[in-house]
Order: sequence, then C-alpha cells, then structure tokens
Amino acid sequence: MNAPILSVVIPVYNEEASLQMLFDRLYPALDALAKSYEIIFVNDGSRDRSAAMLTQQHKLRSDVTRVILFNGNFGQHRAILAGFAHARGTQIVTLDADLQNPPEDIGLLLAEMDKGHDYVGSIRRQRNDSWWRHAASRMMNKMRERITRIKMTDQGCMMRAYSRGVIDMVNQCSEMNTFIPALAYTFSHNPTEVVVGHEERHAGESKYSLYSLIRLNFDLMTGFSVVPLQLFSMVGMMISIGSALLVVYLFLRRLLIGPEEGGLFTLFAIAFFLIGIALFGVGLLGEYIGRIYMEVRQRPRYQIATILDTTSEKNQAS
Ligand code: UDP
Ligand code: MG
Repeated sequence: MNAPILSVVIPVYNEEASLQMLFDRLYPALDALAKSYEIIFVNDGSRDRSAAMLTQQHKLRSDVTRVILFNGNFGQHRAILAGFAHARGTQIVTLDADLQNPPEDIGLLLAEMDKGHDYVGSIRRQRNDSWWRHAASRMMNKMRERITRIKMTDQGCMMRAYSRGVIDMVNQCSEMNTFIPALAYTFSHNPTEVVVGHEERHAGESKYSLYSLIRLNFDLMTGFSVVPLQLFSMVGMMISIGSALLVVYLFLRRLLIGPEEGGLFTLFAIAFFLIGIALFGVGLLGEYIGRIYMEVRQRPRYQIATILDTTSEKNQAS
C-alpha cells in the first residue's frame, strides 16, 4: 500500500459535542469516494474530552486515522499547518470539526481537482446573515481583493482542497501567523471555487468573536500586502502638499491684509484631522512591526505532545 491519494486535515479544539457525529458522517462519506485516504486530526490543546475521543477513534480506525496531539492551544491555522506537515496525500482537504460544512460535499471539491485545478475554494450556500453583514463582508472582500490580489468570495469557509504542489509550498513557509486559504491561494496556478452546504453550528460554540473577525481582516491585509503602507505614504504626501499650500496662502494674507484673528475653530478642525491621520499611521506601522516582531523571535509554531499513527508502520510492512 502506497501513500493515500486523499488527506483530510481537521483541527479540533473543544469539540466533544460534535466529534461523534463527525466520525459517523465523515468515514462513510470518504469510503463512498472510492479513493485511498487518511484523516489527520490535530487536537489543538482541547480541555474537554476531545483528545480522549480522538484516541478512541484512532483505535477503531487505525488503518486510516492519524492523530496529532498538541501540548497547548496554538490556534486553528497552526493546527492545520501541523496537519499539512504530516499529510501524505496528493490531494489535501481541510475541514472544520464542527460539521458546519457537510463532509459529504468533499466529493464536489475533489471533482474540481480532477479537472486540473490546484486550489478549490468554497462558498457557503444560502447564508442567512442580515443584509448589512452581507454588505459589510462584500465591501471587505472588494477591498481585500484590490489590496492583496487574493480572490476569495467567502473567506469564512475553511472547507477547501489543495494540490500536493500547493501544500509543499505552504510547508516551506515559516510565518508565525497566517491565514491558510490566502497563503495557499498565492501559490496556486489554477484556482477555482465551488458552492458547498453550510449549516449553523449544531453543538459547542464558535471559538471566534467579532474582535477576532476584525483582526482577521487586518491580518489579511497587512500579512499579504504592503499596499496599506504605500497608500498611507501617498495620503501623507498629498496632505503635506495641501498643508504647505495652506501655509503659503496664510502667509500671503498676513503680508497683504495684515494680522488677523478668528478662524480658530477651522484651525482646530484641521489640526484634529491631521492628528487623526498621524495616529492611524502609527497604528498601521504598529501592525507591521508586530508582525516583524513575531517573525524575528523564530519561536516554534506549535509543540506536539504525541502522534498516534500506525498507518506508516503498515505501509512499511507491506
Ligand atoms: N479550532 C482550533 N483551535 C482554535 C480554535 C478553533 O483548532 O484555537 C478549530 C475548531 O475546533 C474548528 C475550527 O477550528 O474545527 C473552526 O473553529 P470554529 O468553528 O469555532 O470557527 P467558526 O466556524 O465559528 O469560524
Ligand atoms: Mg465553525
């Protein structure tokens, strides 16, 4: 038996309420594809029974199940990166453990891969968010697309498929904080997207707050592009030209008309506006410096406690 064709990587953090249902649906769905596969669960330091349930599941299906147990909570994307580092398939699919995307739809992604695409993104079918959330996410998408050149209709959907070539490139990246769908996109030659099913979370709760969604958008823009910095210097340049003209104008008035008072609040308005822009610039610089700081420390991205894997022994034996 050689390496499997398909690797499914699933990050797990406090998902005891969903895991059993995930096992019950995922294995039959993959069996139905009639492709050799492996499932790599990465336990991201769960504090509930998730690790025990994964260990149990590994015993039940040790032929296709591999489990990586982290020593602590390192975040969803690092968990997926650990899964990638161990994945052996030529097609790699990421899936959330919470069953918000149906495992039965993995076949849709793989069908696109078989057509020659090396990156298959996904769009959630019928999201029943309110209209203003739709509008807000549309606007963020447009802006991100222009700034980073990464085309992703639905960045919130993690169920995606990648080719071996793309994953090999991702594995060479040593960034501390990244967003995998975007990072992988930059290495793809022939990306596409499909619509997949989407449900509300049945059990457990979302690990992400509104704050982290805002963070994600910041990270995407500063992590994949320096356009914000460049835009800021353009804006800064235009404003300094404007203020220089204002100084000349006021100086001429002083010469021609003589000393004047009044207009104090206009001056305040201008000063506050400039202070606001300067503060925004400082914050923006901080975003980049923060990223640089995280990188130069060169700390390991995650710490693995144990790997439960008997599939490779079998491979070597046969
Ligand atoms: N997850 C993780 N580590 C974390 C947070 C989340 O491994 O620190 C996993 C989680 O178990 C799930 C996936 O990442 O499989 C997505 O998390 P969640 O469903 O909470 O995010 P949402 O769907 O709300 O964006
Ligand atoms: Mg979810």
